Amino acid sequence: MKKNEDTTLDFIRTRIESDIKSNKNNGRVHTRFPPEPNGYLHIGHAKSICLNFGLAQEYNGKCNLRFDDTNPSKEEVEYVESIKKDVRWLGFDWEDREYYASDYFEKLYEYATQLIKKGKAFVCDLTADQIKRYRGTLTEPGKESPYKNRSVKENLELFRKMRKGEYEDGSRVLRAKIDMSSPNLNMRDPVIYRIVHESHHRTGDKWCIYPMYDFAHGLCDSIEGITHSLCTLEFEDHRPLYDWFLEQLNVFHSQQIEFARLNLSYTVLSKRKLLELVEEGYVKGWDDPRMPTISGLRRRGYTPESIRDFCDRIGLAKRESVVDIDLLEHCLREHLNKKAKRVMAVLDPLEVIIDNFPEGKEEHLDAENNPEDPGMGKRKIPFSRSLYIEKEDFREDPPRKYFRLAPDREVRLKHAYYIKCNQVIKDKGTGKIKRLHCTYDPETKGGWSKDGRKVKGTLHWVSARHAIKAEIRLYDRLFQTKNPLDVKKGEDFKKNLNPESLKIIPSCMLEPSVSNARPGDRFQFLRKGYFCVDPDSKKGHLVFNQTVPLRDTWAKILKKQKTYE
Ligand code: ATP
Ligand code: MG
Repeated sequence: MKKNEDTTLDFIRTRIESDIKSNKNNGRVHTRFPPEPNGYLHIGHAKSICLNFGLAQEYNGKCNLRFDDTNPSKEEVEYVESIKKDVRWLGFDWEDREYYASDYFEKLYEYATQLIKKGKAFVCDLTADQIKRYRGTLTEPGKESPYKNRSVKENLELFRKMRKGEYEDGSRVLRAKIDMSSPNLNMRDPVIYRIVHESHHRTGDKWCIYPMYDFAHGLCDSIEGITHSLCTLEFEDHRPLYDWFLEQLNVFHSQQIEFARLNLSYTVLSKRKLLELVEEGYVKGWDDPRMPTISGLRRRGYTPESIRDFCDRIGLAKRESVVDIDLLEHCLREHLNKKAKRVMAVLDPLEVIIDNFPEGKEEHLDAENNPEDPGMGKRKIPFSRSLYIEKEDFREDPPRKYFRLAPDREVRLKHAYYIKCNQVIKDKGTGKIKRLHCTYDPETKGGWSKDGRKVKGTLHWVSARHAIKAEIRLYDRLFQTKNPLDVKKGEDFKKNLNPESLKIIPSCMLEPSVSNARPGDRFQFLRKGYFCVDPDSKKGHLVFNQTVPLRDTWAKILKKQKTYE
């Protein structure tokens, strides 16, 4: 929920406004978006991006982009680049504030040394397994490490040697000295540094010890002067530790505030799981149009405006919930309805010959580009003797309430004329319909009859001679169950993948006005939905992704709610 709207403020804005009122941090608002560069961003991250950058805009503050790159083994430059592209595409600007946790490695090492000097950290020789066993459980207190009482001098020496690379991976760690009987497991002498002999994408081989997230994150926030550090609910139990480090080191104290992460129906939002789909070839890449990644949504035809609108509408809560994916699609349709140029495309062509329209003649008819926005102007569409309509728009034996074309019936061709079907030509062998013969009424130009004669059906069509062929990729949900991660023990979430999520139509017929379309251009194909030109397109071979069909179930729900209000 946005400021200035006639609604109460959400809990984060309430908190920020009270901090401003009490002049905490001199009224400054400084947030950050802190992705770990171990995958592409998804729609859940968009929520966090819109929130952090949005708050900075609303309160005249700043928002940093900070890469949380404390884990050398899973991070890659490719991810850093994709993240920057996605944040920019969403419409946000971090100006010159592009930071990396790895920029602070020296400083963080110094902080760790300070903790040792204060007797608040120690080098522990227990194995990872032992540390886990010593940790206790929610009902049992943990057991002290036998190394906890090493002298400051010995700890400093050992920590220095850890940094110098004198020990093997996993042989030692630096741990905070807090409380092994704390009811909060995170406070039971957590590990703050570990040995990893691996190259880092920015620092190369300079380091072989790396700080743990809980230690690094709060201190990075502090170094950057972040006033409000927003994160998802799973970090609530980590807040006491976040605060502990800042208090022990007596540095600028950022305030961590948690909010519920976005969950979407029929969608998996976990970088690790999305990576699995990419690596195992279930999708074509991180930007496959079926993926809930920002790059996938972009390729699918989503607009940044629609994603920001969605993030506004879902609001902020302290409790986890699942948002209906129909809402996301509704936001998209609303925006595309205003923005997308209408064109005609026949996905499954059936030839229609207009017997009384002379061979070789052509007419160029006026068509509006968007009835929602006359400012988008008009274009010409060619009409000729041979046309295509959709196969499904003709029935030899029409059922009740089928108002499209049938033998001896008249329908309107959009922007063109009334036509009447006189003859059906079938393939002798298969019995399948090959072609229709119709006549047009020249007195109905533009699709309106002067004598007031009414028709019930309006069909889209294209002129066969002028049509351009294009490949169209139709998409269905990537997962067929509402909560794809809800599987029995031992089962794989990938069993919930929808085997029919992609259908390719190799040659559809489009009106010639789209021939110069470029990757990323979005259209409404009349009666068919929204489509977007895919980057796979080549000169003379356009490829379109189906963005969303026209049917809007969410709009229906909203309407129903209104009638009951
Ligand atoms: P994932 O669970 O997909 O691996 P993550 O939390 O590990 O995501 P990060 O790169 O650490 O990914 O996240 C960057 C920021 O985005 C964090 O502040 C995180 O809280 C936020 N974020 C991640 N997923 C969501 C989500 N589903 N809804 C809202 N915010 C999210
Ligand atoms: Mg994370």
